[in-house]
Amino acid sequence: MLEVTAALETVLGRTQRLTPLMVPGRAPLGRVVAANVRSDIDSPPYAKSIMDGYAVRSDDAATTLTVVEEVAAGRMPTRTVGPGQAARVMTGAPIPDGADAVIPHEETKLNGDRVEIRRPVVKGKFILPRAKEMRAGEVVIPAGTKLTPAAFGLLASVGRTEVQVYPAPRLAIISTGDELVEPPARPGPGQIRNSNGPMLAVLTARAGAEARYLGIARDDKAGLEKLVRDGLERSNVLVLSGGVSAGKYDFVPDVLRESGVEAHFHKVRVKPGKPLLFGTRGDTLVFGLPGNPVSSFVGFELFVRPALRKMGGEAIPGPTFVPVPLAEELKAENDRPTYAPATLKWTSEGLRVSPAGWFGSADLRGLLNTDALISLPTGAVSYAMGFSVPTLPL
Ligand code: AMP
Ligand code: MG
Repeated sequence: MLEVTAALETVLGRTQRLTPLMVPGRAPLGRVVAANVRSDIDSPPYAKSIMDGYAVRSDDAATTLTVVEEVAAGRMPTRTVGPGQAARVMTGAPIPDGADAVIPHEETKLNGDRVEIRRPVVKGKFILPRAKEMRAGEVVIPAGTKLTPAAFGLLASVGRTEVQVYPAPRLAIISTGDELVEPPARPGPGQIRNSNGPMLAVLTARAGAEARYLGIARDDKAGLEKLVRDGLERSNVLVLSGGVSAGKYDFVPDVLRESGVEAHFHKVRVKPGKPLLFGTRGDTLVFGLPGNPVSSFVGFELFVRPALRKMGGEAIPGPTFVPVPLAEELKAENDRPTYAPATLKWTSEGLRVSPAGWFGSADLRGLLNTDALISLPTGAVSYAMGFSVPTLPL
């Protein structure tokens, strides 16, 4: 049976980046820029004051100077600052010719048109030189950068009203099972509500992709085939939950094969969620996740989310585990490598992780406050409080 790392390698090896597209107006937060963005201007476009104060000559020996003009932000100076002279400047105002330092207002005393300088003058002080932030033609947002809030500020600074990004992957979701009813209905005998459909849609959104929910496929081949065909049609990724194990009515593997999906693996040595199918049809990825809610959740975070991030142009698609000390002792015994729901918390000693009270694959409530998964090895473990465990923040 495939180990998690090998399975992940298989998935990412088959995952192609999507074709970049130009987005006019404001692109969505978190998309990855696909082509270098260059500045069209020097910024700042002139040496500017970063304080309210007086622009002076640093070689001036005089401590009392004549104020020759006042320059507000948005105005250009009209006079050169000569020996024995100063210009009143506001924050953001251009520095007049002749001046090479700014004395903050608080360190001066004004008397009519004469200003007394009460501090030694340091050359260049409180002046942002021209083009200190960026030069015209310089790359300010390299391809591969995620659009953060600051990136939108930078795009505006360089006058860009459109940007080329990797698009959000489109993911189709199918829930399978004769026992399922949609949430508004009250389950009849032998029925349960479909909780995976909505949960997977939100996991998809959190991963920066667009979800299309196709509905419940009954445990019969014809119905499943119809939805699978639809799902494969206009999606980059198709995710199914349930029907993927070895039960008599688990038709997902057969139907996928008959729909032209090539399976690359069908089991992973992982808990929860061993029966996990991964296949492709052309560039479209297909994941058959086990129906148990926690198995679906973990399978999505370990395999589907990294694939979505790679499609979306991220250089390091994860999952990225970091060591975090345990908030309490932990004893466990697992017959497979396990990814257990956990909660991160800030304590006076720093970040700590705490395993969720979790009884197994069906325990959605154990997932309620989960914002991390911790990785536990096969066999018995007894970890003391403070012991660092590999943790995947979600
Ligand atoms: P399966 O993988 O189809 O064998 O399903 C495993 C378990 O998960 C069964 O107890 C199912 O009833 C349950 N299950 C399957 N699909 C869903 C779903 N969409 N929502 C909630 N539970 C489900
Ligand atoms: Mg089923």
